[in-house]
Formats: sequence, structure tokens, C-alpha cells
Amino acid sequence: MTDPYAWIEQSLATIHRAGWHRSTQAIDGLPGAMIQIEGRSYLNFASNDYLGLAGDDRLIQAAIHATKEWGTGSTGSRLVTGHRALHRQLEQAIAHLKQTEDALVFSSGYLANLGAIAALTGKRDLILSDQYNHSSLRNGAIVSGATILNFAHVDMQDLTNKLAQQRSQFQRCLILTDTVFSMDGDICPLPELLDLADEFDCMVLVDEAHATGVMGKSGAGCVEQLGCRGRSLIQMGTLSKALGSLGGYITGSATLIDFLRNRAPSWIYTTGLSPADTAAAIVAIELVQQEPQRRKQLWDNVALLKKLISQQSLLPSDSQILCVQLPNVKTALKAAQTLKERGIFAPAIRPPTVPTSRIRITLMATHTSDQIQQLASALESI
Ligand code: PMP
Repeated sequence: MTDPYAWIEQSLATIHRAGWHRSTQAIDGLPGAMIQIEGRSYLNFASNDYLGLAGDDRLIQAAIHATKEWGTGSTGSRLVTGHRALHRQLEQAIAHLKQTEDALVFSSGYLANLGAIAALTGKRDLILSDQYNHSSLRNGAIVSGATILNFAHVDMQDLTNKLAQQRSQFQRCLILTDTVFSMDGDICPLPELLDLADEFDCMVLVDEAHATGVMGKSGAGCVEQLGCRGRSLIQMGTLSKALGSLGGYITGSATLIDFLRNRAPSWIYTTGLSPADTAAAIVAIELVQQEPQRRKQLWDNVALLKKLISQQSLLPSDSQILCVQLPNVKTALKAAQTLKERGIFAPAIRPPTVPTSRIRITLMATHTSDQIQQLASALESI
């Protein structure tokens, strides 16, 4: 008798041989610019907590209060027993921040992309997707059953060519793009992309996961920053990065949101977001609007790091995500190790997550200039 599971061990061995094997490491204590790993303190340049809100006492107290008031779990899907007034309050706060008619909160950003894309497109439709899009956009496209074409990264000429060749053969068309690309730090040319969508009669879904809270005057994201508010598009985002909580959302017209409540399987058939996560996110959205100084500090930190390190080694970036390019997996892993020995946590990101190896640095509003100088001198040494 053969073992039907034997292939898993072989496959894992291949992952090890390629240098692609990954595992978890426990981080102790509250999230912040300094973190504890195995009893040692590290300067943290790997967090998505861009505004430093995940350890903020106001979010913590809101989560504790909500847990005492409504319990730990929401106990069911939103359409059955899982809906609380708190969820609606959060959806209204998101819609207000984004200046859209309505919003729908999912239990994670990943689920928001899967559910929305699957609800909006089907077998007779076309999806055009930037080749560097996040896994949740790419898998949402697969789940939808639509025909998927990738266009070259932020290349509007390639997108135009593909639309001109293919659009007329399909019923509906959806263009998918990250606004801030999470593993590179560059930004999509949204105004041009929306012009193309108008010309070729396409829907657009933008993933604002790394832009919400940090981009735009009020922190609404790249749609605000790039002057695209009021144009017809669908925005997705997560509550788990600058907003320091957990969960995801889609925001747009009231009709779209009502449609998703009836058609997005990853919203209908999953448990509602916990009261604690919901309450923390509501406070975070208030703070994004009331404390613009956090955004200013973040951009001052980005400018300082760019001034201190050699630009040639960096991938082009217009965001708080900066990547130091390295020639291969081995050098990237060695660089991450050297940084760690110097008390800096900024891990190597490597294939298959990205096409080329790199050290990915994410800045936070709560980093001090001393900490950024420390990072810059450690980077010079690698
Ligand atoms: N989109 C992008 C661009 C992301 O980086 C992430 C998280 N890594 C997600 C979606 C998924 O969000 P969540 O973590 O809330 O599932």
C-alpha cells in the first residue's frame, strides 16, 4: 500500500532545498517600534502598524470594554446572530473617512477581496490584474471563475493593449490593483487607470490595505492622495495595518454594499468580526482623523531614512515601505541575519512571495530619528 500523504514530505524537502522554507517566531510584549524576541529587544522595521496604534491604550481600552459588554466572539454570521450595532457604527465610520455612501466590514482583508471579486465577476467576465497584486486579489480572481489576464506591473500601455485586444469578447470587466504595492512600496498610477476603465467600460477594485490611514490629507488613502475621490470605483482595505486591529472592508456606493451583503460568500458564510476588533477599529478611525501629526511624523521618518541611505540600493518607492535590493536569496537571508545581530528586525522577503530577494523596511510614526539613524548605519554595513 502506498502512503497518499508521502508527497507532502517530498514537497517540503524541495521547499527547503530552494531556500524558501519559512517558520514563525514569537514576538513578546506590546506592538511598537521596539519588540521582544526570545528575551532580546529589537528595533522593529517590519510592522504594518504604521501609525503605532496597535499598542495604543485607547484602542486596548475600547477592546476590553467591548469584550465585557458583548463577549469575546460574535457567535454567528452577520445575517444570523453575529451582527452588533458596533459593526454598523464601524461601517459608517469607514464610509465617512472614505467619503463613500456605505461600507461593509469583513472578518479579514483577505476575505473582503475574495468575497467582493467572486460576487462581481463570473465565467463570462474578464479580470485584468497587475502582476504584483496581493495574493488575496489574485486568489479572488481565481475563485470568481472569470478569465484572468495579468498586466505588467503599473504598465498602463500593457493594460491598454490587453483591453483593446480582449475587452469586447467578455461581458463585464474588472481591473484589480493594489494602490501601495506591499512588497515593493511603489504606487499605482490610479488616475490613468481610471481613465482607461472609463474608456473600456470596466469596473475597478483598488486594494488600499497599505494606504488607508497613511496616504491622503485626511488619511483616507491613495484615492484621496491621487485626487480620485468621487470617481466611480470600489475600494477595499484592511483594519489590520495602520488601524491596528483586525478585519477588512469594501467601501463604495450603497447599491454595491447592499449587493455584496447578498452575494459575497466570504461575508455571508463566515462569523462576524469580534466585538473587541470592531471597537478597536472604530477608535483607530477616530484617531486617524483627530491626530494628523502621526501621519506627518511618519512622512518625516520616511524622508529622513531616504536622506541617510544610498538611493541606488532601493527599489523605487513613494510610500512608507522601502526595499533594499539584494542579488539572491542567500545574500538576503545573510543581510537579515546581520541586521538581527545588530538588534534590528527587518526580514528578508524572497521568492516565491516576490520575484527578487530584498530586505523590506516599513517605517512607523513612532520610530525616533535615533532609531532611524541606527537602521541607516546598519544598512550601510550590509
Ligand atoms: N491586501 C494587501 C495588499 C495586503 O498586504 C494584505 C495583508 N497582508 C491583505 C490584502 C489582507 O489583509 P488582512 O491581513 O486583513 O487579511
